[in-house]
Amino acid sequence: MSKVIIIGGGPAGLAAGIFLSRDKIQTIIIEKFATGGNMLLTEYIENYPGFPEGISGYELSENMKKQFLKFGGEIKNGDVEKIELNGTKKIVKIKGGEIFESNVLIIASGSSRKKLGVKGEDEFIGKGISYCAICDGAFFINKDVAVVGGGDSALEEAIYLTRFAKLVYLIHRRNSFRAKKYLRDEVSKNDKIKIFLSKRVKEIIGEKKVEKLILEDIEDSKQIELKVDGVFISIGQKPNTDFLNGLIQTDKNGFIIVNEKMETNISGIFACGDVIKKPLYQIITACSEGMIAASFAEKYLDSIS
Ligand code: NAP
Repeated sequence: MSKVIIIGGGPAGLAAGIFLSRDKIQTIIIEKFATGGNMLLTEYIENYPGFPEGISGYELSENMKKQFLKFGGEIKNGDVEKIELNGTKKIVKIKGGEIFESNVLIIASGSSRKKLGVKGEDEFIGKGISYCAICDGAFFINKDVAVVGGGDSALEEAIYLTRFAKLVYLIHRRNSFRAKKYLRDEVSKNDKIKIFLSKRVKEIIGEKKVEKLILEDIEDSKQIELKVDGVFISIGQKPNTDFLNGLIQTDKNGFIIVNEKMETNISGIFACGDVIKKPLYQIITACSEGMIAASFAEKYLDSIS
């Protein structure tokens, strides 16, 4: 039994953990992979205040983790299977049988990349298809690759991949990108990036690994073939909420609904970061929500003690 359990060690969970452990509240973060969450998929972060030269996603993750551990926080590795309630107690069941209990739960489990859902996608995952340019970009030195998507992540990844690839095709389903202006400007200036707008990926084809894409024009349905060695799919995120067990209210896309105190519909369960429904998904907003969740979690603990 600990005072607070945080599910997820990304920026929201770590920020909440830092706040609570600094206030000497016994806090455990349960993390499935490595602390840092989606920050680890970002090579360089330039818009997080306090680092005028920018900071790598890995280093920022490590710094936040150190800060949490320094104040006495604890990190456990585990994949949460289910959460349950027993009166005011929150029970967190981990795959493999381990069980944690606390009076307060903060859900900061983040989000994962969405799949495109086209023929060939599942077949070629790891054989040319990737969901993370930082992780797999270096496998494509002097090759031709495609990035699918029109948001900040897709444009950032296309720019990053030009370090390795000979040519990067950026494929988007509409005729304008939703990404920020500085990214749109950078992409249009980069000679190694070739943009295909109003095109959808119809099929991914290959023998043993990805060899080509079939693209279909959204307006006139004309199809073209594009020879590529790799495809990076960057079409947004889905919340990591498989373990909610029907207890927590979400929107139709599975993002947790919270109020301004980061409270969910269940007393003593808070949520923050990319797993919640909100208008802006950034590291700084995740940290801020983590702090808010922690602050009201502390007030909740006082109210029940
Ligand atoms: P996103 O902003 O949701 O963009 C997803 C993109 O994929 C959109 O262009 C969307 O097209 C396209 N898409 C979605 N489903 C598709 C499908 N089935 N087929 C083809 N295309 C599809 O996702 P994101 O880029 O991963 O960013 C997530 C959040 O993190 C955003 O809030 C973003 O601002 C933030 N972020 C910020 C930074 C930064 O500030 N440097 C970096 C990375 C991410 P439509 O445009 O037609 O909907």
